[in-house]
Amino acid sequence: MYSLSLSPSERSVLGPFKGGLRFHPDVDEGILKFLGFEQVFKNALTGLPMGGGKGGSDFNPKGKSEAEVRRFCFSFMTELFRYLHPSTDVPAGDIGVGGREIGYMYGQYKRLSNRHGEGVLTGKSPNFGGSPLRPEATGYGLVYMAKLAVEKRLGKSLEGMRCAVSGSGNVAQYASQKLLELGAKVITMSDSNGILVFDEGMTQEDWKKIMDCKNVRRQRLHDLEGKVSGKYIPKQSPWSIDVKYDLAMPCATQNEINEAGALMLVKNGIIGVLEGANLPTNMKAQEVIRAAENVIYVPGKASNAGGVGVSGLEMSQNAQRLTWKAEEVDDKLKEMMTSIYNQMEVAEVSGGTLEQGANRASFVKVATAMRELGWVM
Ligand code: NAP
Repeated sequence: MYSLSLSPSERSVLGPFKGGLRFHPDVDEGILKFLGFEQVFKNALTGLPMGGGKGGSDFNPKGKSEAEVRRFCFSFMTELFRYLHPSTDVPAGDIGVGGREIGYMYGQYKRLSNRHGEGVLTGKSPNFGGSPLRPEATGYGLVYMAKLAVEKRLGKSLEGMRCAVSGSGNVAQYASQKLLELGAKVITMSDSNGILVFDEGMTQEDWKKIMDCKNVRRQRLHDLEGKVSGKYIPKQSPWSIDVKYDLAMPCATQNEINEAGALMLVKNGIIGVLEGANLPTNMKAQEVIRAAENVIYVPGKASNAGGVGVSGLEMSQNAQRLTWKAEEVDDKLKEMMTSIYNQMEVAEVSGGTLEQGANRASFVKVATAMRELGWVM
């Protein structure tokens, strides 16, 4: 087990340590360090009082029975619970940790601590303190950011845009749903075995089948071959096939777009890359995208901040012992993404990019707070 949230004596600047727990065989300290680093700056952009944290395990939930997952979550929390407190450290989900796993971990936390209704985990079920729209928040927030960037930077509408989404987990599912709602075309979804390609865009019916496949049956995308309107291609990703997209929304994992993938996107006329995942675009691919003319690039710390933003709102609701309406949370999410977009624009100097704006705005906030707290001169 790894947990990189620092102890209180190691000082979070903006608020309680806050970030997701990841269960994936690749998890090691290096991965958690980059995720924790990004999280500090992402949380700063939300405007909420939250510091960065990240944790997880190299436990592989894939292929495990329900009982095995439950037992692992219980054991994980048996150790972690002593470090959690609404003012200290409040984890959420990430890859391999969804509503089911958060439920089991919260169940064990309650059993061990006899504390109920505390916001020590977010992404909980609405039956015991979860916020409406937390499952949807990262994906919806990503699409709200895409809409803002496309309208304000390019004077275009999302309607009819061909969007490549990678992954088929939490972020990808709700990004696709919101894209469909706003009239965009979802051309791809993927998992680590292959890709579904919908030449003319996924239908609502396809989306429902993917939700059922991933969240209820817990199957692979290849199980949908012949059952959805798209075709399944094994061993490929949206960034390895020669297809035209307007927007790329990597929502699977780190380093999924490499240099060759980025070159292909640019060759095919991409106009925007908006990261739903954390650091999905590797260093070489970032260089290609930065060098391309008129391509918007919004880094994950800004474009996927809606998830932790609504986690922050879940903490507020738990502290008040209230549950807000979904519409209220959605309005606040839109407001938050607009504020992040504006911070990126305001922080730009000498015609800088949105990416530079995100880095500068978040760094300045954390550094200023450190100075005000007297921790640096
Ligand atoms: P998830 O529900 O577990 O889904 C992850 C998806 O990515 C799955 O479809 C998975 O396919 C695919 N994937 C994972 N590792 C892969 C690999 N090495 N190669 C190809 N595909 C891979 O996780 P999630 O919550 O959607 O998170 C996705 C990304 O968004 C992560 O980078 C996470 O840090 C970031 N993020 C999440 C949130 C949130 O609220 N959940 C917030 C901000 C950022 P398989 O099932 O085949 O592994």
